[in-house]
Formats: sequence, structure tokens, C-alpha cells
Amino acid sequence: MPSSLQVAYLRMRAFATRLAMSACAILKTPSGFFLARAIAPELVTGDDIIEFALDGTAIEDTRKPFLERFIHGTLMAARPDVQSVVHSHSRGVIPFGVTGTPIRPLLHSCGVLGHDVPVWDAGDAFGDTNLLISSNAMGEDFAKRLGGGRAALMRGHGSTVIGRSVQEAVYTAVYLDVNAQLQAAAMQLGSVKYLTDGEIDLIQSRLGDAKPGEGYDRTWQYWARRAGVAIDGPVP
Ligand SMILES: [Zn+2]
Repeated sequence: MPSSLQVAYLRMRAFATRLAMSACAILKTPSGFFLARAIAPELVTGDDIIEFALDGTAIEDTRKPFLERFIHGTLMAARPDVQSVVHSHSRGVIPFGVTGTPIRPLLHSCGVLGHDVPVWDAGDAFGDTNLLISSNAMGEDFAKRLGGGRAALMRGHGSTVIGRSVQEAVYTAVYLDVNAQLQAAAMQLGSVKYLTDGEIDLIQSRLGDAKPGEGYDRTWQYWARRAGVAIDGPVP
């Protein structure tokens, strides 16, 4: 197995174990992106990884792919800075996608979400659907809603985040769900004091300046260890 495939697998497995629910993480390649075949995330091995072109076409592989592979390629085509995409069905965010109450960062670790977490509603442009992103047209519409942001919800479906590395994308996906759960709990208690735009900018700047082994890397190493994946140093 090529080392790049091995790395992609380790990263996917660590993420899937952390969230323990349907989620897939991908990694950009020179020809497109890596994504596992249609299989439960925690069962993925290196042999299950398929390389796709950005239009969602499998490269020299006939195994059944994930229907929602169009999310990933269209985002990478729209955003050259995107190196990794995590799409998740984690439950914590769902209430915020169906009520009009926006997710706003309230914890320092959640400053990575940015100033705005938009909601994409499949019905706006496509009418009645099964809510899944099943075509490049739907993927492109979602990419427009995300715009220059880092995370967006999908109404009645889940969420998708981007990163300039797999570590950053996974960190963002995990803390999106953490923020959603904390925000729902805080709103029960009273008026919530959220991070200010200035605090969000400072948090992102500090993470962006982190040296190898700090910030996203350190968190990644912890999650990878919990997932039973031996990564002692920064992931290449
Ligand atoms: Zn989905």
C-alpha cells in the first residue's frame, strides 16, 4: 500500500472513531481526492480507499462509491485552499439546521468555526429531494453557500467543514459538534455570551502560527492514539 494511502486511512479511521457516527474525511491528491468506498467509516482499511477525479468519477476502480462523493470534489474545485473535507451526520448540529438559530462559537477551541456558519437547504434550489448531495450541481450549490467559510450545516442532514490540512478539517468537524452541544445547553440557562469577532480572529491566528507538534497536530496525535493508531510525531 503506498504511504499516502496509508496516511489517508489512518486519518479517516481516527476521525471516525472519535465521532463514532457516520462521517468521512478525505485528502486532496494531485489528480483529485481519496475517499473510502461505501463502507462504515470504522471498518475502513487502506485497501478500501479509492481515488476520485474532482467530478466524482472513480479513477480505475469499479467498487461502489459513496453517493455523496460530489461534496468533496466540488468544494475542492471551488476552493483551491481546501486540502481536506469532512462531511458528517453528527447529531448535535441538526437542531441548528432546522430552526433558524445560528451556531455561534462560544468556546475558545471553537473559534476555528469562524464568524459565520451558514445553513444550506437543499430545497431552496432543488425542491423535494432525499436531502443528500447526489450530483455535482448540488455540490456546487453547497460550495456557494459555504463561500469563503470553514463550516456549513445542511438542513435535516448534517454538516461539512473544510481544512487546509486533514488535521485542521478534523479539528473543525469535531469542535463544530462540540459547540452545537454546548450552545444548546447554554441556551437553556439564559442569555449566551459568544466569542467576539476579534476573539475569533485571534484564536485563528494563533492556530495558524502553530509550530509542528502544536495546535492541530497535538490534538490529532491525541485522537489518533485514542483510535489505536500509532502516530508519535507530526503527520506528514
Ligand atoms: Zn451526508
